[in-house]
Amino acid sequence: STVEQLIEADKKHFIHPTTVPRTFLEEGPKIIFSEGEGVRVKDIHGKSYIDGVSMLWNVNLGFGQKELADAAHEQLTKLAYCSSFYGYSNELAVRLSEKIASLAPGDLNAVFFTSGGSESNETAFKFARFYWDLKGQSSKKNIISLKRGYHGATISTGSATGIVGFHNFSGSKDSDIIHAMPHLVNAEKGDKNDPDYKHSIRHIIDTKGADQIAAVIMEPIQGAGGVHVPPEGYLQAVKQLCEDNNILFIADEVICGFGRTGKMFGVDNWDVVPDIMCVAKGITSGYAQLGAVLLTQEVRDTLVSYDNILGHGFTYSGHPTACAVGLKTLEFIEKNNVLDNVNKMNRELQKGFDYLVEHHPHVAKTRAVGLLAGFELMQDRDSNTPFAQSIRAARHIVDHSFDNGLILRAADFEEQVNIVAVAPPLIVNKVEIEEMISIIDDALTSFEKTL
Ligand code: PLP
Repeated sequence: STVEQLIEADKKHFIHPTTVPRTFLEEGPKIIFSEGEGVRVKDIHGKSYIDGVSMLWNVNLGFGQKELADAAHEQLTKLAYCSSFYGYSNELAVRLSEKIASLAPGDLNAVFFTSGGSESNETAFKFARFYWDLKGQSSKKNIISLKRGYHGATISTGSATGIVGFHNFSGSKDSDIIHAMPHLVNAEKGDKNDPDYKHSIRHIIDTKGADQIAAVIMEPIQGAGGVHVPPEGYLQAVKQLCEDNNILFIADEVICGFGRTGKMFGVDNWDVVPDIMCVAKGITSGYAQLGAVLLTQEVRDTLVSYDNILGHGFTYSGHPTACAVGLKTLEFIEKNNVLDNVNKMNRELQKGFDYLVEHHPHVAKTRAVGLLAGFELMQDRDSNTPFAQSIRAARHIVDHSFDNGLILRAADFEEQVNIVAVAPPLIVNKVEIEEMISIIDDALTSFEKTL
């Protein structure tokens, strides 16, 4: 049949990212998606699923948004593509950069377009290093990133990624990237007696020397690493540390940006203004491939003081169709008060999590900032005891929910860590959240029976 042929062709020709190749060759694709509407997607057999993680935390406005499709269609018909090299410009890229600047905190007013998150972070690293060159401080080359952070899959952004499987797999790495332990708020504030001080960003600066460090990059809330929310004061402490040491602070807003956390940007939860901010994903709700790097006036002024060709850019930097979709996405978010919905649905999700905690003894550490949420599964939540390595609790929940029509994501890269990530489209409603919680409830009951 056609489906069988498709599966065979998939196995033979299509190499899938972040998939175990051997398992894939044996089992074939887990699902072949065919259509979507709102928070739901259907597979090729017509089975329906709630997309509880907005695919890769990007389809923030859900599926089938006609306005976004129309914006793409209109631009594709009018002028599908044009270059923005050599001083060529287009109205959509200009309008979108103006719009992003109006939404971004502080004076993050200048925008460099890319095609996604990795390219944005890669660009940020190059810009940060170049910035210090232009300031006559070319020894400042190192970038500090956090363990458990995810920043992309290119050589430099993969190196900055603090999830071992991602940065170790090919052995090719950017050796000017150093990892620190995340969220050591006291050490970053200056407490050198903190037992974890030696793993902190501050310790790297103290030992390596600020004159060797170009930038610190972090996600305001770590996503792929397991939805880890920093303790109060952490982002502010790191920003201050950077300021005190002449180090640029790069916020990776690829997941958090454009409403995911209930504020326009993740950093807005702590009123921090980064020097460089990287966005992608939600900027087009996944309807087109687009990323952007935002620069403060000062960083921008330094970079544009260069008297030569700025040898950096991508064919699709400022892609007019991607920018048309981006512009429509941001207009949609404002026009439909999407942030209000995120904050209302956050409360529904929290209620659902409370129910799960009450009824299932292994559910621990629930967290939800806006609709960036998750929970952990532990052997004993009171004593903080994880499950044995052999018990793949998060996998069980994700697989069981999948069978029952809910797509979730396990973050179980670290040994004995069982986190389930929940991040539905920002347009989700109360009934859909209740449906999600009910499917998770069943999955937990099924898991408990295996113990
Ligand atoms: N940064 C963060 C925080 C991400 O979550 C991701 C992707 O998941 C990236 C960067 C990389 O983005 P892309 O996959 O678009 O290159």
